[in-house]
Order: sequence, then structure tokens, then C-alpha cells
Amino acid sequence: MNIITNHMPTDELQALDAAHHMHPFTANDNLAAKGARIITRANGITLTDSDGKELLDAMAGLWCVNIGYGRHELAEAAARQMRELPYYNTFFQTSHVPAIALAAKLAELAPGDLNHVFYAGSGSEANDTNIRLVRHYWASKGKPDKKIIISRKNAYHGSTVAAASLGGMAAMHAQGGLPIPDIHHIEQPNWYAEGGDKTPEEFGLERARQLEQAIEMLGEDKIAAFIAEPVQGAGGVIVPPETYWPEIQRICDAHEILLIADEVICGFGRTGNWFGSQTYNIRPDVMTIAKGLSSGYAPIGGSMVSDEVAAVIAGGEFAHGYTYSGHPVAAAVALENLRILEEENIVDNVRDNIAPYLAEKWNALADHPFVGQASIAGMMASVALTPDKSARAPFAAKAGTIGLIGRGKSFDNGLVMRHVGDRMIISPPLVMTRADIDTMMERVIRTLDQTYAAAKEQGLLKA
Ligand SMILES: *Cc1c(COP(=O)(O)O)cnc(C)c1O
Repeated sequence: MNIITNHMPTDELQALDAAHHMHPFTANDNLAAKGARIITRANGITLTDSDGKELLDAMAGLWCVNIGYGRHELAEAAARQMRELPYYNTFFQTSHVPAIALAAKLAELAPGDLNHVFYAGSGSEANDTNIRLVRHYWASKGKPDKKIIISRKNAYHGSTVAAASLGGMAAMHAQGGLPIPDIHHIEQPNWYAEGGDKTPEEFGLERARQLEQAIEMLGEDKIAAFIAEPVQGAGGVIVPPETYWPEIQRICDAHEILLIADEVICGFGRTGNWFGSQTYNIRPDVMTIAKGLSSGYAPIGGSMVSDEVAAVIAGGEFAHGYTYSGHPVAAAVALENLRILEEENIVDNVRDNIAPYLAEKWNALADHPFVGQASIAGMMASVALTPDKSARAPFAAKAGTIGLIGRGKSFDNGLVMRHVGDRMIISPPLVMTRADIDTMMERVIRTLDQTYAAAKEQGLLKA
């Protein structure tokens, strides 16, 4: 069913887009010169653009459309809620049904005693909340000097001033005077790029122990928390060595600091369990959620906190909140999304069926002459492209040159893949069938072959 048939011609839309719309993470002049691709509708795992071309969305939007597109139940839930109560706040000693019902459901799904949620409108906002929350927590316990948050280079925690400071993206820190004070970055567990001659196991331990070294250097009495994504997403789907998380958990247990798991991507089934913390057997005190919480159908995020943290915060007024904290329409949509994930056994099916099937095919990409490493965690995966497999060498060309060629080829092949530097990544909807995966993998392999050929032709196969 073509619902939107009355839109303007593509070139007119592109001209207006170029004239008035500033795109995130985009060189806008560059985009204006070629024109944005206009997406007009989507169903299942397939996007359709304004020229009627179809694309298999192997990124689930921006890692968020976990249940796939076109689920009318969510549209109904939004319409129903808008008619009944489109908005009310939760500041004035008031509450509303969607915020309550979603909080109770999240408490049931979250691991351990993470039984409390503070709502935000996005992952970035939730991480802003986390900074204030963990500092306020320690201040409330009579330790106002515990303010530093330890994070990691090449981490992604969002794009607001505070969230981008928490993140470890050098290109983001280079603009606008970031990071803010009292954020400390240790190195990432990226064995492929930084592990040298060490085994992944040795390297994982070494990088985890940087947390302990940072605690010793900065002083435990100055540190509020350590934050990390169970699997780095925007950093390039960096799956940590098996030794990494157990050692991090040991260090967190041995010291008086909070552990914040940023589950914005890993949450809601992405790694084959409800939360990445379950997959990696970690016990966070605080968990950031967004993206898959509503499968992207409405903007909503939040911080889930343990009984102990919530009890301390409850002792006074936490002077913090957003107009849209627990927005009733977004909360109703999220609740319906969780119902579908649960009742259709989507998370179990990822773990027991679809992710293992994808892993078998994805891991085989490591045999491709152009691929230095294939990594996968549930339904998020990456390949590192290289001119020299045995040395895991980067290209002589500027990082991202070959990745960008790869992204272009993938679109030509009817496939949305993303590149992070010279890594090609996917994070497809969780509702893919085996047949969908076969189709996707055919296009992935064609894309790699064509990118390899193009790199060769352009003389870019040099380390
Ligand atoms: C996307 C992302 C965020 C930021 O979420 P927004 O909704 O874009 O603000 C935070 N953390 C991680 C791990 C993310 O992937």
C-alpha cells in the first residue's frame, strides 16, 4: 500500500532539504551537492525511497528498529494514548498510567535489582541524567568529592555536551570545547586495531586493568562511576575479548565506584538477551536505555537504577527532570513494543535461532581476502577491511576512504550498511528470518567483492 503518493518530486524535496535542513554528523555542502536520499516509507526490514527504490535496512534505522517497520499496533497505541491523554508531566506530585505501567514492566525485565527508572527523551539525555545522578548519589552519602566518571576512548554515549564528553570520540571532542571537567578516558578493548602481538585474552585483561590503574592514579575517593557499552556500537561494533568484562566486574566489586552499563544499543534483544549485561554477565548499578526501548517508533530513553541507588536518591529532592520525562505517548508506544518483543518471543528467537544462523555466515567473511577480522555479538556485527590480513594493517589512505566506498556500494546493492572508518557494520532488525539473512548476506558479499575491486582499481590496496 503506497500511503504517501502525493509528495513532491525528489529533486524538489532535495533542494528544500539542502536549503533548510541541517543534517546531523554530515558535511552539509557535500550532501547538498549530490542530494539526500529521501526515505518515504518502510515495512518489515525494507525501506522505500522517493523514487520507489527498495533497500534492505541492515542498520535497523540507527540501531533501533528492533521489531522492524510497519507494526500498526504501535501506531494504534500512540493514537489511543493521544486521544486519552496526549501529555501530562510527572513533576507536580502527579503520575500517569503509561509512565507507571512502563516503569513496572522495565523493572520486571531488567536484571538484578534494577527496579527503578528515571525517564528521558533520548540516550544522550539519559546519560546526562546519569552524570548528575551518580554525583548526587555520592554527595547524598556524604562524599561530594566522588565526581569523576571514567569512560573509554572511542566510546559513544550520545551527542549533548555532557554525553559527548562521556564518549571518547576524538572528532567530537575537537569541536566545541569538550570534554567537560571530571571525565577521564581509559583505552578501549579493541584488540584488532590496538592489540599488537598480544593474544586477545592477554589484551582484554590489560585493557580492563587500566580501570584499576586509573582508580589508583585518580583516587577512589574522587571517582563516582565507570561507564561502558557492553559492546561498543558506534565505535565500530568492537566485541571485547572474553577476559575483559569479568576483570572489569572484579575491579568494580573491589572498589567503591558505580558501574553504568550503557545499554542504548545492546538493550532489548540486540545481543541475544534482554540486556547486554546478561550476555556479558555484568551487574551494573545504573543502566542507560533508549533506541530499542520503543524500536524507534517514539523518542524515549531512561536510566534504570538499583534499589540501593534509588533509595539514596529518594532521601531528598533530585533537582533534575525533563518536560518529556515519561511522555505518555512515547511510554505507551514503548510498552506496546515490549509486549511484542515478549509475546512473539523475539529475544529468544534471536538467541536460539537467528543470531547463531547469522554468526555462521558472518564469521565466514573472515576468509575474504579483504577482511582482517569478522566480529559478531547477537545481531550486531562488523568486518575490518585491510590491505594486509596477516598484519591486521590499516590502509595507507585516510581512515574511512575505503569504508566510504563500501557504504556507497552497499546502497547500490539495495543494502543499508554503515562504515566506521574502514570497518563495515550491521545491526539489523531482530525480526529477520533465515531467508532475510540469506538475502542480506548475498548483498554483503557482493558489496565486499565490489569494494575490494574498486580499492584495487584505485590503487588503494596499500598498507
Ligand atoms: C545512540 C547512543 C546513545 C545516544 O542516544 P540518542 O538517543 O541518540 O541521544 C547513547 N549511548 C549509546 C551506546 C548509543 O548507541
